[in-house]
Amino acid sequence: EKVQVRAFMSDLTEELGLELEERQVQFFYTDKMEQDLPILLDRKRMHQALRNIVGNALKYGPDKGLIIKAELSKQGDLVCIKLIDNGPGIPADKLPHIFDRFYRVDKERTKDLMSTGLGLAIARELLQAHGGSIAAFSEEGKGTCFTITLPLTV
Ligand code: ATP
Ligand code: MG
Repeated sequence: EKVQVRAFMSDLTEELGLELEERQVQFFYTDKMEQDLPILLDRKRMHQALRNIVGNALKYGPDKGLIIKAELSKQGDLVCIKLIDNGPGIPADKLPHIFDRFYRVDKERTKDLMSTGLGLAIARELLQAHGGSIAAFSEEGKGTCFTITLPLTV
């Protein structure tokens, strides 16, 4: 489906913003695009990928004082979506593995009984199916940034 990326993100972040507000999370969205541009995507699946990432920020972040930022920008012929949290971060030696199936950094955490370690593996597969990619940058004690890129439709 051909979707205007700016409109797509504005709908999605509006919905997300309301949900996060209810959970006392500070949410900021920045749209750095100069104009709306079309990308090819499956709305439902892209929603799911972004939800998995935001879900992690909620699950691993602090109960109080969690801040989540989303940013949309254009980089050459790619669209870039960043999701940034101020959670605990991910140790550098663990970071390369977080997109692996069933990989979890801390398997002993009791509040994570429901977690399977599939969320990011699924997100990556969804992104790749869109011709896009996903990467993570993190600093322990500071937070994590997920960067998604998607090709613009020609
Ligand atoms: P599931 O998503 O299937 O419920 P999960 O959250 O453990 O399980 P992933 O979403 O794939 O699995 O994440 C893999 C691991 O990466 C997590 O177990 C967690 O340790 C780490 N992680 C992911 N996102 C964050 C984040 N925003 N902050 C800190 N750690 C994170
Ligand atoms: Mg998860």
